Amino acid sequence: MAEIYFLGTGGWVATPQRDNTSVLLRAGGLLILIDCPGSVVAKIRKLGFDPRRVSTIILTHVHPDHIYGLPSLVHSLILEEGEIRLLGSEETLAFARRLLDLFGLREKNVGIRVRFQSLRPGRVFRLDDALSLRGFRVPHHSSSLGYHLYLNEERKEIVFSGDTPVHRPLFKDARAIDYLVHEASAPSRYFKKYPRLYRIHTSSLDLGRWSEEAGVRCLIPCHFLADVWAVPTDVRAEIRRCFTGRLIVPRDLQCVSL
Ligand SMILES: [Zn+2]
Ligand SMILES: [Zn+2]
Repeated sequence: MAEIYFLGTGGWVATPQRDNTSVLLRAGGLLILIDCPGSVVAKIRKLGFDPRRVSTIILTHVHPDHIYGLPSLVHSLILEEGEIRLLGSEETLAFARRLLDLFGLREKNVGIRVRFQSLRPGRVFRLDDALSLRGFRVPHHSSSLGYHLYLNEERKEIVFSGDTPVHRPLFKDARAIDYLVHEASAPSRYFKKYPRLYRIHTSSLDLGRWSEEAGVRCLIPCHFLADVWAVPTDVRAEIRRCFTGRLIVPRDLQCVSL
């Protein structure tokens, strides 16, 4: 059995209820973090896990709400010996190196070593017997990758979008997928008010429509815009205008068994 724990489900502005989006994936003996905003250590502990068990961090892109907690996480492991693996696009990893160097977190006195593993889009990378993944480009930022995750023991597949506008190849990849974890930054009325959002993010209306067309089995939206208090209700209603499959609108710290 594998699980996804939502450490945060909010967009780029955190609220008391929703921190920036990141998830912890447990598969086999592996504990993997996808994206690293602020206080992930506190939240991993709240869920009852030891942050020292996180062996791999997968990054989607270099925007602050997805990466600004990385130096803090590495700093919290300064006394530990061992290694943590960092996966992402070439550009994301170059940025992460600079970010860690600003704080001297790759120097000799730091116990934990960060091993950088850049992912070539389209190529399957085997993390472990339990999990393989394949990165693919999404048109949100030049550093952006979405991920197709293969849970080998469960024989389940997950597509994880990261931040992205509607991207036709992603939905082709997610055809009849077991789980699609996809951003739904806001309801469509918000996109109509700020049309430039269409170039970089996805409305809940579009997400429901495209997911239905792709035959997604279970849709999990996240990365909700902060200042619309009714977002989860509106997001659910808009997705349901088209989408007929299983729908989970997660809260922070919610666990989804896969
Ligand atoms: Zn974001
Ligand atoms: Zn972003």
